[in-house]
Amino acid sequence: MNVAVVGGGIFGQVIAWRLALRGHRVALIEPTGPGNAGSGSGDRSRIVRALYDDRGFAAAGHLGLALWRAWSEALGARLVEPTGVVYFDRRGDDAAATGFRSWLDRGVANVREVGGVAEEIAPDEAARRWPGVATSDLARVILEPGGGFGRPALACKAIARASLATGLVEPIAATAERVALRGARAAGLLARNPDGSLRAIEADAVVVAAGFAGVALVSEIAGDLGIRRLPHWTSYWDVPYPEGAMLGIDRLPVWADLGAAMYGFPDDGESGFKVAWHEPRGGGDEVAADGAPSPAQVEALRRAAMTRFPGLGAATYRGHYACAYDATPDEVFQIGPVPGVEGLYFVGGMSGHGFKHAPSLGESVAQLVVGEAPALDLAPYRLRT
Ligand SMILES: Cc1cc2nc3c(=O)[nH]c(=O)nc-3n(C[C@H](O)[C@H](O)[C@H](O)COP(=O)(O)OP(=O)(O)OC[C@H]3O[C@@H](n4cnc5c(N)ncnc54)[C@H](O)[C@@H]3O)c2cc1C
Repeated sequence: MNVAVVGGGIFGQVIAWRLALRGHRVALIEPTGPGNAGSGSGDRSRIVRALYDDRGFAAAGHLGLALWRAWSEALGARLVEPTGVVYFDRRGDDAAATGFRSWLDRGVANVREVGGVAEEIAPDEAARRWPGVATSDLARVILEPGGGFGRPALACKAIARASLATGLVEPIAATAERVALRGARAAGLLARNPDGSLRAIEADAVVVAAGFAGVALVSEIAGDLGIRRLPHWTSYWDVPYPEGAMLGIDRLPVWADLGAAMYGFPDDGESGFKVAWHEPRGGGDEVAADGAPSPAQVEALRRAAMTRFPGLGAATYRGHYACAYDATPDEVFQIGPVPGVEGLYFVGGMSGHGFKHAPSLGESVAQLVVGEAPALDLAPYRLRT
């Protein structure tokens, strides 16, 4: 089979590689390169975990963790660092704290049900294990030891190299402009070369996995998918030692403090300590279109994060990484056949939590395209117009 895959982010890379390993030829259309800075998969870190209040996401995350480990071994690259993930459950009965507490309770049950581990740790024990963390306002800490620190840009590039080595994936540095149809079947793509000329790419099936940009390619056919682009940013900090040493990857897991709507990553030794808001803040009029935060926004985030990591009080801002969520109203992905067109598939609406699921759901998409039974049921993610 000849398959055209649009987009060389983590989903396009996984799908192309897994198709090639099944013996299929793939044209991978990506103008900028794997894990590029303008894509959702270009940052240096992403949380990988199975702890979700939704059973389907927990199952996809759990299988994802196993595949990230196996693929790291197979490709000889640390696509995921096995730091574990800690979830800080704040004391208090305000809506944010209680909402996160019940989310955690459901998440812990789901992790255990899918075969993972979630440990409950008392605040004083947490303070001993992770001395860079202020724990006096916590009710408990949940540790998911199987979760970790995903490396999205590195994973895209490592998988792209593995694809090249199969001899079956042809990377094409062009921009897909239109899906070509033959009657009610996808027949390939029309793409724009960097010199402005047009190029026709023939294929038996087309997978559009181009982040938010992919929405326009299929909405002409499928109608409005209801996916919005939400500009967002993450921040990186240099923390002076000795406090900074307690925030290093050898001392601190990836963390989520969603009662305060924050999450972040230990310093991997190259990037600095990372903090982000869980949700894009401020809406379109406060966050610049390119996602760059104002100095006041950066300082507000630091002040909030200092309550959990006092070492940040002396930190110096290193910079931000701007990217965007391709967000659905319910944060449920849209993955599957495009209704009305045979051989056309869409992968999008990742809503800020797609990276961890790219192995399990990407493999499932490859299976669907070639007529195998998908490892995961994709029905909950069908396209919704
Ligand atoms: C700030 C932020 C934090 C996040 N945190 C997490 C997290 O902690 N854990 C987690 O699991 N997920 C997280 N996510 C989500 C995750 O990063 C994304 O879901 C995932 O990286 C999306 O991958 P993708 O392949 O769908 O899209 P992308 O990585 O955006 O790739 C799309 C690719 O398509 C290419 N393209 C665009 N238009 C065209 C065209 N017309 N023709 C050809 N190619 C085209 C682009 O160049 C790009 O390379 C976060 C996202 C953001 C923005």
